This record gives sequence, C-alpha cells and structure tokens, in this order.
Amino acid sequence: MLVTGTGRLAPGGRSPWALHIRAGRIAWIGAPRDAPADDDRVDLGSALVTPGLVDSHTHPVFAGDRSDEAAARLEGAPYTEGGILRTVDATREADDAALETLVEARLAAALAAGTTTVECKSGYGLSLAEELRHLRIIRRVAGRLPIRVVPTFLGAHAVPREASSMDEYAAHVADEMIPAVAAAGVAEFVDVFADAGFFDLAATERIGRSASAAGLGLRLHAEQLHRTGAAELGVRLGAASVDHLEQLDEAGVGAVASSSTVATLLPAPAVVLRDRLPPARGLLNAGATVALASDANAGTYGGFGTMPLVIGLGATLLGMTVTEALTAGTSGGSAALRRDDIGALKPGMVADIVAWDAEHEGAFALRLGAIRPSRAWIGGQEVGLGTL
Ligand SMILES: [Zn+2]
Repeated sequence: MLVTGTGRLAPGGRSPWALHIRAGRIAWIGAPRDAPADDDRVDLGSALVTPGLVDSHTHPVFAGDRSDEAAARLEGAPYTEGGILRTVDATREADDAALETLVEARLAAALAAGTTTVECKSGYGLSLAEELRHLRIIRRVAGRLPIRVVPTFLGAHAVPREASSMDEYAAHVADEMIPAVAAAGVAEFVDVFADAGFFDLAATERIGRSASAAGLGLRLHAEQLHRTGAAELGVRLGAASVDHLEQLDEAGVGAVASSSTVATLLPAPAVVLRDRLPPARGLLNAGATVALASDANAGTYGGFGTMPLVIGLGATLLGMTVTEALTAGTSGGSAALRRDDIGALKPGMVADIVAWDAEHEGAFALRLGAIRPSRAWIGGQEVGLGTL
C-alpha cells in the first residue's frame, strides 16, 4: 500500500511525503515522485499525519466512581492509599462481564483518540486470584480490539486491608504472585507504587528482583508524592521506565538522564492533584529519554482517550516544544515499553499511522485536547475509530 500526503508528516515535518507499506511495516519513506509503484493507494491530502500515539501508563481495570473524592481533595483532603482500597472493594465485587465492559469502553476511547498502543496495569485486585482475573480481562479485551495492549502486573499498588504489614504483603508479591503471573503468561512488566505511604525502597527492590528473576520487565511509580530515591533505585534495577517524577531534584534528573531508563511524565494527574510539575525541561536538557502518558486511573485522573490532551499539556504546562511533546507521546512511549518497532515512521517500523483533523502538529497545543484522528492504521490495517 502506498500512502501519500501533501501535508505534514510529524514529528519532523516532512512534506509532501509518501510511505510504502508492506506486510504491516513501513518499507520505504520519501517524496511522492520517488515512490515505488503500487495499485493500492491512499491519499491523505493536507492532513497532519503522525505515528500512532503510545500511552505507556494506564490503569483501566476498575469499577466504582471516586469523583466525590476528587472534589473533597480539592477542598483540602489528603491523598492516601485509602482511595485505592475503595476502588479495590468495588472492583473485587464486579463480575467479569461488568469489568470487561468497562475496560473495553476505556480502550475504545483511547483508540478513538489516536492511541494505537496502550499499556494496561492491573493493581485494583491486590490478591493473586483477583490480579490474575484482571490481567486475563485485559488479555480478553485486547483480543477483541485492534489497539495493541501491553499488560503490566501492579500487585504492589497498595497494601490490602487483609495484609498484616507492607513487608509481609511485599514478600507475598515477590515470592508468590510474580512467579504465578509469569507462569500464566499474562503480563510483560511488573510495576510498584514506590512512594512514601505505599512501598518503601527495600520492598520495591525485593519485588523488582523477583520480576527480573521471572523474566518480566520492571517499571516504577516513583517520586510522585515524596523524593524517596525510587528513581535511582529504578535505574539501578534496570527499570524500563520511572513514572511521575513530580518531586525529582537535580541529582535525580542526572541519574535518570545518564541511564537507559525512560522518564515517563504524567501531567494530567499532577494537574488534578494540584501537585508540583515534573522537571520535563531539566530531563530533556540533560539528555533523558522522556515519555508522556495519561495515567488514566480510578482516583487521580479519570480521562481515558486523552493522549492528545496529554501531549498538549506537555507542550504548554511542562515547557516542552510541540515536537518534543509529540515525540514523547510516540517514540518516548515505545522506549518506555522497550519496543523498538513502534512509535516512529521509519523504514522497518510497524505501520501504526494516524491522520488528524489538523494541518500542523501545533494543533496539539493550540486545541489542547480537541484534535481528533480522522483515519488510523495499526500494523498496516485500517481500523475503525468508533465514537468518543
Ligand atoms: Zn499510575
């Protein structure tokens, strides 16, 4: 298939352009006049075209509603692990069919907004049986939708009420849950909420080492609420990504920037929590690989299908250029997921392509969330975008 356009191919801004797609991958890219012959042609006219967006941090498996808590927090109530446990109660009570309907709607919204790859965490089950149930729901929904799903086991999201202590539960996660999750083949990564009031550095290290031993990748919620050193621990454990980083200081910026661990920034929950903003500019200036992701979840940011807004927030609130923000929401996300075959429009890459109702990538900033895809391809196959 030959896809051509007279508009901008971003990031980068090539125009006019042509992409030759064979067997689901980009075989060639260049000027239309030099394109190989192909009878199967699609012309996208003057539309802005980008790689499919990559949302490398979401929590889609939950039931219940915590918007009352968000309102209370904005009146001064603190953010504690009690909120997560409220979602755990509601989610444990929801049957498979109800949860699958919720997850499917959330992932369909992500696809409708131009996300072609989405990382999905468990983490509102907090027992082996519940966490496996949630990971299997992610897998079943992924099988029904064209969006590419990367599953993550987040058993260490909070300490469940039935556990006697954080240390006892962390040992259970490390010694029993991770081997069982790995044996079931339902997750690619393990994540830990490594922060004050959640899992301390020793517990996080124990869980991280178990993940490595089981052949699973590691990613961490780090430096969101307090500066704990979780970012440096993630670097030391070879984590694919350390996510949040609102409280990261200059030493932490240097540690992440001098490693292969991606800095994943989540501006939306920082806004909702009226938190400090992560040091995006410092990380970029120091040479870190930066990803932007939604962190769509039950309690601190509930917007699924909002990656265009997240990229817009990167380019406005976080001080990134539009090109940096779009790169962070595409190839940055793929780096955070340790996928070197998605997130960019280059020969050899999987053909995940989105055409937008815009002519320039500056629309991600100018319209702040109100830029929409008009057509999308995943692995070279055109996909229906549904309705938001
Ligand atoms: Zn999160």
